[in-house]
Amino acid sequence: MTHGHLDVLDDPFSLARQLSGLNLVDGKLTRPLSKRTFPVVNPATGQHIADAADADAQDVENAVAVAARAQIGWSRLAARERGRLLAEAARRLSAHTEELARLVALETGKALRTECRPEINATADALNFFAGLAPELKGETVPLKPTALTYTTREPLGVVGVIIPWNVPALIMAFKIAPALVAGNAVVVKSAEEAPLGVLRVIQILNTVLPPGVLNILSGDGPGCGGPLVNHPAVRKVTFTGSVETGRIIAHAAAEKLIPVTLELGGKSPMIVMPDADLAQVVEGAVAGMRFTRQGQSCTAASRMLVHSRVHDEFVRRLAERVDGLVMGDPLDEATDIGTIVSRLQYEKVRQYVELGEAQAGAVAIRCSRLPEDPALRKGLFLQPVIFTGLTNESRLAREEIFGPVTCVIRFDTLDEAIDIANDSDYGLAATVWTRDIKVAFTAAQRLEAGLVQVNQNQVAGPNISYGGIKQSGLGKELSLESMVDHFMHKKTVIVNLE
Ligand code: ADP
Repeated sequence: MTHGHLDVLDDPFSLARQLSGLNLVDGKLTRPLSKRTFPVVNPATGQHIADAADADAQDVENAVAVAARAQIGWSRLAARERGRLLAEAARRLSAHTEELARLVALETGKALRTECRPEINATADALNFFAGLAPELKGETVPLKPTALTYTTREPLGVVGVIIPWNVPALIMAFKIAPALVAGNAVVVKSAEEAPLGVLRVIQILNTVLPPGVLNILSGDGPGCGGPLVNHPAVRKVTFTGSVETGRIIAHAAAEKLIPVTLELGGKSPMIVMPDADLAQVVEGAVAGMRFTRQGQSCTAASRMLVHSRVHDEFVRRLAERVDGLVMGDPLDEATDIGTIVSRLQYEKVRQYVELGEAQAGAVAIRCSRLPEDPALRKGLFLQPVIFTGLTNESRLAREEIFGPVTCVIRFDTLDEAIDIANDSDYGLAATVWTRDIKVAFTAAQRLEAGLVQVNQNQVAGPNISYGGIKQSGLGKELSLESMVDHFMHKKTVIVNLE
């Protein structure tokens, strides 16, 4: 099953060209049947770096047929053997960390040191986590009656469709493909238009170990490729991370087919800062939580900072000073903390939100960090992080997901008020509370409407926590044993009559 190692290619420009215009189906890089491509642009310079396959319904038809055939043999392997192969694939991936980090930095504009290298390390870690869980796909015996042996088994679903976004493409893909594969399913991934190359390379590396056809990837747009994938009759489960609007379209299609979906959608995550909190720790947590080094392009971004009146001004001053010290520049430069926004479309969208905020009475926009001066980056999609004060929770900036480096700091005076503001949102993905008071911490944890609540920290989601939102933030959980067993398998009951 081993098809040999790939060379490590640390020059992301030449690697991008080598992967240009390709999908990976049945273990091989292939041109799309559609014969169409679209350009991939470096957001730091505006340069055209490669093309991406623009797969359509015929490509989906072919990839799903390949996956369905491969799934039969894959599901018949012992679970631990699937886990062993995935762990070996993760080991190979780690040998390509630098190369992959550079490629993702090139296509997304995310900084190599602060974002892309940690992303690839976390990707291998997630694959290993699920690989190690393979022996846990257990069933149970049921005491139905003494004259029957009744037991359950966990069975794979078949072919799983995986639709991913561009913000953390390799890692989010790993959260989905790893449990799907270990559970015995075959997978067809559709990458995001803005970040097709890094994930294609990841899939190519994993395919040097996995049997051909169990893990395939298509690049294409949402309606033309994602749509047919979701609607394909042989796709028995869809797992999606992206916008609420697309999540709704996918849920409708899944309802027609009566298949399960996992949806990880947006967020407007509150961060409640009590007056007794350790402000130095809070400021670091705010920088990490708001993902300023990723230009705020995160569904869990702490984009509503609810701060007690007594520490509000001090917090804002210290946060602005800290974000101001972050270096914006070439994503591939080791000295860079903050890279670019991913695309012109997103850039304009974020700018409009900033303009809207500035036009509101009482609002103050604090712009931090400095745009790079390098003439080579003149056309880059760099945007200064903005901290807004003086906006209320009614503002569109506090209600809608901006997906950019814009956060609103909102004052409150009592814990009740803070929790009311926090819960007054369409979203319910994550929340944090910062306090030294144990009663306040547990009360907030109990009352906050969110899938994940953290106290005095804001670390990124990782393996072994059950992750997923409520309300408009989505359906289902990821990243845990429970998510693999409940979302990528079905339970079969067997009753053996002993009479
Ligand atoms: P964003 O606004 O962040 O790009 P989207 O939800 O549009 O978020 O995109 C996330 C992923 O969903 C991408 O891979 C995109 O191509 C895909 N997508 C968009 N529209 C559809 C659709 N109608 N059906 C299936 N997938 C879609």
